[in-house]
Amino acid sequence: MSANDQPSPGPAPSGGDAGSTPSWQWPESVWRGHTSAVTAGRPLLPSRWPQGARAAVALSFDSDHETIPLRDGETSPGRLAQGEYGARVGAGRVLRLLERYGAPATFFMPAVSALLHPDEARRYVGEGHEIGVHGWIHERNTLLAADDERTLIARAIETLTEITGSRPTGIRTPSWDFSDSTLQTILDLGFDYDSSLMADDEPYEVVAAGEPTGLVEIPVEWIRDDAPYFTMDRFNSVRPYTRPRDVLEIWKDEFDAAYRDGGVFQLTMHPHVIGHRSRLVILRELLDHIAAHGDVWFATHAQLAGIARDQLDRPTSPETSR
Ligand SMILES: [Zn+2]
Repeated sequence: MSANDQPSPGPAPSGGDAGSTPSWQWPESVWRGHTSAVTAGRPLLPSRWPQGARAAVALSFDSDHETIPLRDGETSPGRLAQGEYGARVGAGRVLRLLERYGAPATFFMPAVSALLHPDEARRYVGEGHEIGVHGWIHERNTLLAADDERTLIARAIETLTEITGSRPTGIRTPSWDFSDSTLQTILDLGFDYDSSLMADDEPYEVVAAGEPTGLVEIPVEWIRDDAPYFTMDRFNSVRPYTRPRDVLEIWKDEFDAAYRDGGVFQLTMHPHVIGHRSRLVILRELLDHIAAHGDVWFATHAQLAGIARDQLDRPTSPETSR
């Protein structure tokens, strides 16, 4: 995800018969087709967590840095500096905080961001964190031809692998968006998991047009993303600004409920958003709150996906689907 980034409109109705027909005139086959293209299948919550933990905590940081303005062709130094802060200040603060809690995390990094800040990308891996794919330049995948989308993701895999020496196994699509081709591209490129969809609180198997794909989804949500609370548009009179301590309360409630459920607390942040002094303090207090429980499993998204994948080997029965 990204700051100042709204979800783009979904794909235009496909299938030929829909075309520019307004949605209220779609035949049932069209709206059923759209809602069944990519859906949630088997829940992949394990019956027990590693290390006897009661719940899992999966922290993620999307190290977009300068790629948001670059993606939009905004090249003014003023606009780029907001992203530069994420690399220069935010990422280091985040890494020091994670080290203090011994908490591994996943950093989803656009390839251009990794090329601009290769030492940072290597540091993520060197300090025991995971690096995941987050597009080439945070491109808007719903505007791309299928071949272009695939080429950019494949190039991003190669770039991150070359820079860090670690081949990514997971993807978070830029802006959490899916084009008509995204799922097939993810499957073809051999990813173990995706973390861009939000059909559940807990990991699940992605289903394509009714067919299980074997792809693990580590779901996200705007509720558990720093950007919607803290970012603003200076030329827009609307200031969707939330007090950091109010966000802390929301995230604590999310964690507490996940803990009671024995489930997953997944969080998405951005070094250039959460890395500011008045915001990092809430991450520290959140980690204090979580760590005080003792029996939580801090995992990278890849580790969590590995546990979830094990659930795929369980015998399938209709009752396990929902
Ligand atoms: Zn992003």
